[in-house]
Amino acid sequence: MPHEVRGVIARGKGAEVSVETVVVPDPGPGEALVRVQACGVCHTDLHYREGGINDEFPFLLGHEAAGVVEEVGPGVAEVEPGDFVILNWRAVCGQCRACLRGRPWYCFATHNAAQKMTLADGTELSPALGIGAFADKTLVAAGQCTKVDPAASPAAAGLLGCGVMAGLGAALNTAAVGRGDSVAVIGCGGVGCAAVAGARLAGAGTIIAVDLDDRKLEWARGFGATHTVNATGADPVAAIQGLTGGNGADVVIEAVGRPETYQQAFYARDLAGTVVLVGVPTPEMRLDLPLLDVFGRGGALKSSWYGDCLPSRDFPMLIDLYLRNRLDLDGFVTETIALDQVEEAFAKMHRGEVLRSVVVW
Ligand SMILES: [Zn+2]
Ligand SMILES: [Zn+2]
Repeated sequence: MPHEVRGVIARGKGAEVSVETVVVPDPGPGEALVRVQACGVCHTDLHYREGGINDEFPFLLGHEAAGVVEEVGPGVAEVEPGDFVILNWRAVCGQCRACLRGRPWYCFATHNAAQKMTLADGTELSPALGIGAFADKTLVAAGQCTKVDPAASPAAAGLLGCGVMAGLGAALNTAAVGRGDSVAVIGCGGVGCAAVAGARLAGAGTIIAVDLDDRKLEWARGFGATHTVNATGADPVAAIQGLTGGNGADVVIEAVGRPETYQQAFYARDLAGTVVLVGVPTPEMRLDLPLLDVFGRGGALKSSWYGDCLPSRDFPMLIDLYLRNRLDLDGFVTETIALDQVEEAFAKMHRGEVLRSVVVW
């Protein structure tokens, strides 16, 4: 029998979100019904509401979530009712050209639930990133559920589902930061702070956090930044060079997604160093760089999709590090809120007051 639950709906471009009744079908083949315990508020949810992702309104928002599997459909073997899981938006297919080449973290044909959740009047919903977890229960593909140690706090664990994984993975997977490397991170919101935490976890030596907001730089220090640069009053390229013997950092992670900050990352890196773009640009942005500098400075210019993570590999490992006090996931949870406070949380996020507001059931 379908389940009637509460969910946070974005009905139209720029309109305030509202809590409405959502009808969630019983899981079909390959699907799982998850009782959500916590779901973080991410910039991507706001982008959906602003119409910045696509026009497929109404959206059921929420995608940084952890919960408990309540029911599974036919043929599901990877999880069972009662499992504590983190939801992901990379349920790999195993058959696309990336998966067949042994690079499933790039999977080009990831799975979502086949059935649609709807409003009470039958209107089909588009779940954010194929998850839709600002809801008491949600329906996903079973592969979107990654079982982890239930000793973890749901609020902290859920954040691995998106932004925190993106930042950690930018450092650990995409940049493959090595012991003793110097790392600079430009932009210290949730993703940037997670990149700082990832650099520390990897054993980086100097970790330089760059932002325009002292509050964010203070957060970055808490996650392991050894130096901070407020770019309001300083040239970040010169500052990073000054903190790295005049050379620039081995790795610069750009967690803003703007041409200006990408250029800073490009020039703040040592010769043959690595730039990782994990900030998400908008369609009209253009990059203008002398091609000779691209050649002459060598190294690697990479983009990081979802931290190039493989949920089945990375989530349980990171939760174990968290439970052994080596990764401060709790530090990303600035506040916990109720389901009807998502709109307020968007405003706080927009003002830069929070790393993450997390809806907790
Ligand atoms: Zn695939
Ligand atoms: Zn997100």
